[in-house]
Amino acid sequence: MKDSPHLQNFPQLNAFHAKPGFISLIGHRGARGLMPENTIEGFEYILNNDIIAIEFDVLLTKDEIPVITHDFYLSKAITRNSEGNWLSKDGPRISNLTRSQLEVFDVGGVDKSSAYGRLYPQQAFLSDVRIPKLTDLLDLACLPKGQNLILLLEIKSEPSFKKSTIIENIVFEIEKRSLSNRTVLHSFDWELLEECNRLAPNMPRSYLSQLPKSSDDLYDKPSEEISPDFSSFNGSIPKAIKAAGGHLWCPYFKDVTADLVAEAHSLGLPVCTWTVNEVEDFENMIDLGVDGIITDYTDRAKNIFKLRGLRWQ
Ligand code: MG
Repeated sequence: MKDSPHLQNFPQLNAFHAKPGFISLIGHRGARGLMPENTIEGFEYILNNDIIAIEFDVLLTKDEIPVITHDFYLSKAITRNSEGNWLSKDGPRISNLTRSQLEVFDVGGVDKSSAYGRLYPQQAFLSDVRIPKLTDLLDLACLPKGQNLILLLEIKSEPSFKKSTIIENIVFEIEKRSLSNRTVLHSFDWELLEECNRLAPNMPRSYLSQLPKSSDDLYDKPSEEISPDFSSFNGSIPKAIKAAGGHLWCPYFKDVTADLVAEAHSLGLPVCTWTVNEVEDFENMIDLGVDGIITDYTDRAKNIFKLRGLRWQ
């Protein structure tokens, strides 16, 4: 890959650039295959297992508190009420609940009888686990045990808030703890990332993509998010990201080809792909030359990397 001029300015990008003999391992929502997703317990698992990078999702509550959760609404497959019963239906929306209203819900496990739960038979089942505030994770990253943690922070673009309101609330907490040199701002909403460039130019930006033809992923429900227009730049996503001043490309793994990886590298753009969970897919992504792999199964990834003579960072 061309030397990236960004590495000096943004040391956290080192965690996403492959080096000879090294690949990046990024825990998805913590390690969703093994631990309840987007929970402090899952992030602790990462810290205890020699992994430095995590991807996780942030939304604002009604009272504009950034919290770590993926769906725009409470999902019945992973949420129990104060009596310990699974929600009977999805909802309400996170943006319609205050932080204190959210605190009664338990997200320590997945309903293994649900279609979603059947995807994660090995996931630990815990109780009394709350949707974390972003600050809970940031505080963990400030402790000695979290001092090497790198944050791939996905900002979910909730339409009921102005993009600037979402970004400002998140960035404020990061900067208050001097964690901007360990954070990468990551989103499907490329307009929101443009706004990040304006409001937080001291943090690098990661561009997510998924082509419409491959939106059938079992592990990741189609998002209700704004999809970028890939038709410009002759359909070249790496060129579009480069033109937008982006620092990292995170394509859906079924969209990755060796040519695209080479094109991204020629532009100085590392490629970290999601969400890779099956042995064959890990093997393919390594063969295609990606810089990093975002996975629900960090244990599987490590086993495969070891067999391939790779170390992870
Ligand atoms: Mg995410």
